[in-house]
Amino acid sequence: MQNRVAFVTGASRGIGKACALALAGAGARVALAARQRDKLEEVAAEIRSKSGEAYVVELDLASDDSIKNAFTTTAKEFGRIDILVNNAGITRDGLALRMKKDDWNAVIETNLTGSFRAIQQVLQGMMRERWGRIINISSVVGEAGNAGQANYAAAKAGLIGLTKSMAQEMASRQITVNAVAPGFIETDMTNSLGAEVKEKVLQSIPLRRLGTAEDVAAAVRFLASEEAGFITGHVLAVNGGMYM
Ligand code: NAP
Repeated sequence: MQNRVAFVTGASRGIGKACALALAGAGARVALAARQRDKLEEVAAEIRSKSGEAYVVELDLASDDSIKNAFTTTAKEFGRIDILVNNAGITRDGLALRMKKDDWNAVIETNLTGSFRAIQQVLQGMMRERWGRIINISSVVGEAGNAGQANYAAAKAGLIGLTKSMAQEMASRQITVNAVAPGFIETDMTNSLGAEVKEKVLQSIPLRRLGTAEDVAAAVRFLASEEAGFITGHVLAVNGGMYM
């Protein structure tokens, strides 16, 4: 991945941070994006301490202006963007009967529309280079559904439709577009769940352990690599067998 430039959204913690570290470890120059700059700086320092190259950029996927600005400044800094990892995501869980429109909209806007807008920012450059890797972080919930997560599941299922459509649109330019669908991964997003819920989840995972951010990052690193050049429109499950 030497000389490749990667842009990772939600790179300040959890899966996004692990993806950024994995891509930098493989030789890519990495732009780290999220809303809170201080946490991104810590990840950048970790990458630089291992002789990698990192650039910190503030990004709010709920704002079109912020998206445009983040990608423009990164392209200026690094010259181009070869790899986009659409990882940032939020949850606003609740039963559909009582779900507020704001909670529906916030999740669709950040997780689905924000990812689409980010893709739009990198397409022209990738088309020019006739090389590109776009990796969207979906979820097992986007494949199987989940009670209490109608908004999140709809956004994550939407990402799969987006992935397959973009893969078809971009294939002739040698731009691959794939999704990774993590199962239950130990991060801040899942740490808030109670011990009882976690135990129940564990029983539904054939490999009998929760996933790590590094499990997901390894799949992302592979899909971003030269070796994955004949894989597009695929949804790679990283879920311990939870959903097959
Ligand atoms: P996390 O620990 O909650 O981290 C989320 C990241 O997204 C943070 O870096 C956050 O930084 C950033 N972010 C949130 N809202 C943003 C916005 N509006 N604009 C830009 N960045 C934003 O989440 P995670 O568990 O690592 O999950 C990462 C991705 O994997 C998500 O898309 C999630 O849906 C998916 N996933 C997770 C699991 C799991 O079990 N953990 C399972 C399946 C799928 P700031 O707050 O500073 O912006």
